[in-house]
Amino acid sequence: MTHLVAPCGHRGCTAAVGEVWWTAPNVITGVRTAGTVVLCGAAIVERGEMLLLAALLCYWIGDIADGLLARLIHRETRTGAVLDVLTDRLCVCLVVVTYVTWHPATVVPAGVFLLQFAVLDAHLTLAFRNWSLLSPNYFFLVDATVFRLNWSPVGKATNTGAVVLVVLLTGAMGAATLLALAVLAVKAYSTARLSRLPVPRTLSGCAVLDAHSAPSPAPAPQA
Ligand SMILES: [Zn+2]
Repeated sequence: MTHLVAPCGHRGCTAAVGEVWWTAPNVITGVRTAGTVVLCGAAIVERGEMLLLAALLCYWIGDIADGLLARLIHRETRTGAVLDVLTDRLCVCLVVVTYVTWHPATVVPAGVFLLQFAVLDAHLTLAFRNWSLLSPNYFFLVDATVFRLNWSPVGKATNTGAVVLVVLLTGAMGAATLLALAVLAVKAYSTARLSRLPVPRTLSGCAVLDAHSAPSPAPAPQA
């Protein structure tokens, strides 16, 4: 069994080292990823926009379901969080690239979005592993600002869904590009802030303790 509540009592801290892979939420992650890949493949073969929309919905609904179930049944694991991050990138990149090949006019906002999502956001989202955290959903134990900008409910909704919805619902590429650039700026700011956070040399099992015991980072070089 994985560790449910760390000795410090914070939900979200973890002292677990060995983790099981076969949790119900991880099975959902696997199924929703396979479903998205198959639907996307079928969409490419059939050149079917509705199949591609189904692939996107399979990813979106499955992504909400696996996280929700993990929190409800207290089966959140660091392994599951990493798996979630990686499968998200696979699903979203497949759907977006397929859509762009059919609608070349969307290449600019889609390109900015993918740079943000597949590079900066992936880096930010995996950074929780530097502390004794179960997932980025508890990053407020380390830094409230980075958490609010990226993984609060509002942060999550605007970061991942907004650009896609603007493209699909309005077709306004200028607005979509501006929005994608705004999210990119939030990610760039978050990345800079993250790089200034002290990183603990060893994990204590409590993220708050980790954050306070970490050595201060070297001062930024002066221009
Ligand atoms: Zn703690």
